Amino acid sequence: MRIGVLGGGQLARMLALAGHPLGMSFVFVDPAADACAQSLGQHQISDWSGEHLIEALAGCDRVTFDFENVPAHTLTQLTDHFNVAPSAKALSISQDRLDEKALFHDHGMAVAPHAAVSDRPGLLAALADLGCPAILKTRRMGYDGKGQYRLDTPEDCEPAWQTMAEAPGGLILEQRVPFTAECALTAVRSQHGEVRFYPLTWTHHEAGILRFALGGARWLESFQHQAEAQVRPILEALGYVGAMTVELFVTETGLVVNEMAPRVHNSAHWTIDGAVCSQFENHLRAIADLPLGATAATGAALMINFIGQLPSTDALAVPGLHWHAYGKAPRPGRKVGHATWVVDDESSLMAGLDGLGPAMDANAFQALTGWIKSVG
Ligand code: AMP
Repeated sequence: MRIGVLGGGQLARMLALAGHPLGMSFVFVDPAADACAQSLGQHQISDWSGEHLIEALAGCDRVTFDFENVPAHTLTQLTDHFNVAPSAKALSISQDRLDEKALFHDHGMAVAPHAAVSDRPGLLAALADLGCPAILKTRRMGYDGKGQYRLDTPEDCEPAWQTMAEAPGGLILEQRVPFTAECALTAVRSQHGEVRFYPLTWTHHEAGILRFALGGARWLESFQHQAEAQVRPILEALGYVGAMTVELFVTETGLVVNEMAPRVHNSAHWTIDGAVCSQFENHLRAIADLPLGATAATGAALMINFIGQLPSTDALAVPGLHWHAYGKAPRPGRKVGHATWVVDDESSLMAGLDGLGPAMDANAFQALTGWIKSVG
């Protein structure tokens, strides 16, 4: 089976690594000449618009995407020619934070109090209404903390407006949720409506970028049922096919939903080495109409993102550590790889944590130990 992927980044690369053993081949459509998936399939250097896209994807049995900012209307057009999943509708809703919040709210999920902002007086009024601290975000095209401005006091209003006013597609002001932790629920839904959930992932972000994720965290088990009950109706309402991750805040009054990603997602990279069947393989199984794989964790799986550059490979000496270099040139703020350390359970993880020192710089290691110890 030939799979066309709009986007040729690390997510496309990991899809291909999961798909080759299933006998799949890949076409990646990406404007970047150095797209890091290219060694794993055919690379069409192209943007995601126009007639040439249909030509570029000729012969593909399925079309999917690895990048959330692919134009949703492109996906709609492709639907006339290809079997496309996830749907343009799911992608389109996820591309506008306001639409996304409306979907969650309509299905009974708690969201951060928020308001659309289109001008300076509107920002002042929204801030007066929602109060500080708050976050001003672009409604569209935001990812990895890009397109966000944190307001701690009303005086931050003016610099926030100066920084964000030009954002195309408008802005949204959100109350800052006083979360005790962040987590993510990854689900996969088949073409026949079968849904499987991975165990909740405990996540840690810095400056809006995911740094660490722990799959199979025991303390999150008490939230699993609530999270699944909230996300299932969203998947049903969208008639969703493929893997999806929903990011959630854990608060003293329960779960508050932040956003959804209608694709494979960084917070579930641990499933490659730490679950029976990875999110990448399950995404492909779902879109290719193959039976879904088991989503159970095989232990405690800690994923560490490598941001900017790869650390020393000395960490490979740690038993149970799996290395994933994406073949990307180093650049500040860029995700260039990750490692996943899989151990039997969280007590083995705590006992062996010091061994991970070589896998990161001293500051990151301090952040990791502080985070892991924050929830006993
Ligand atoms: P996002 O781009 O919406 O996924 O935001 C990236 C990260 O910023 C989240 O994972 C949180 O750490 C933080 N964040 C975003 N929105 C809020 C919010 N309303 N309240 C508190 N933290 C937030």
